[in-house]
Amino acid sequence: MPLVTLPEAAVLLRSGGLVAVPTETVYGLAADATNEAAVRAIFVTKGRPAGHPLILHAHDPRPYAVFDERAERLAAFWPGPLTLVLPLRRASGVAPAVTGGHGTLAVRCPAHPLTLALLHAAGVPLAAPSANRFGEVSPTTAEHVLRSFPDLPVLDGGPCAVGVESTIVDLSGPVPALLRPGGVPAEALTLVLGDLAPSGTTAAPGTLPAHYAPRARVLVVDAAGALPAELRDAGETVAVLPRLSPTEHARTLYANLRAADDAGATVIVCERAAPGGLGAAINDRLQRAAFGR
Ligand code: AMP
Ligand code: MG
Repeated sequence: MPLVTLPEAAVLLRSGGLVAVPTETVYGLAADATNEAAVRAIFVTKGRPAGHPLILHAHDPRPYAVFDERAERLAAFWPGPLTLVLPLRRASGVAPAVTGGHGTLAVRCPAHPLTLALLHAAGVPLAAPSANRFGEVSPTTAEHVLRSFPDLPVLDGGPCAVGVESTIVDLSGPVPALLRPGGVPAEALTLVLGDLAPSGTTAAPGTLPAHYAPRARVLVVDAAGALPAELRDAGETVAVLPRLSPTEHARTLYANLRAADDAGATVIVCERAAPGGLGAAINDRLQRAAFGR
């Protein structure tokens, strides 16, 4: 039975095992971040290339990374969907596989109560990318995880409340840079820090143009209009993503892409979200899902 209780998950993690864990963003494939062999197993299980460093999840990430004044100000968003890339602390105990040998470490404190309780019970920081095979749509329910990994122990925390990955800000250099739009809107960060270098201007290891992709072809348009009917006339099986508020859109995005695949869609028509707030993260994921298809 792959569903596990919180104490079982904590024991598995402490003994070097992998457990899929809920967070407020997406489900993570977690391992003890201080255990090199356990962290390596994440890469093997996902089929994730070694050059894609992982995010360390902890109640308090300060023992593992060097916080400057900017980092302390942004830590006000924790627990929450914000990841900071900071200089790795010397003698941090973090397994080299987490950072891919980089001198920087990505850290965050997640906002899901069960994840926080698990971090407490496990007593170790957790390295966790999304609990899907590399390149696939991220999981936002325990069931999504089990579809990719039927034998993986999963801690079920219900559907993820945010539904898209964390915002990543690089504070390892003099100019703060947005590496990935996500659950915390960039506008909120700008209020605290001033202007950020926009995403795309700094190379982030493991940020690929194509990612988060369903099997069906994804078409991203400003307004669907007559397009679905035209595609049906051309013999396509068409799914149209519903028009929702930004919060609902983000929360249901991955489940809706998966549902379209399950329904046998050959094309998924997605209307672009309004650009501000969570719209930036939604449009980023839609663009990557559509890239090159
Ligand atoms: P995820 O793919 O959701 O697991 O998020 C991990 C992403 O965070 C990576 O693919 C990188 O883009 C970014 N990241 C993690 N660690 C670092 C790091 N040390 N330096 C720069 N970016 C990082
Ligand atoms: Mg992922």
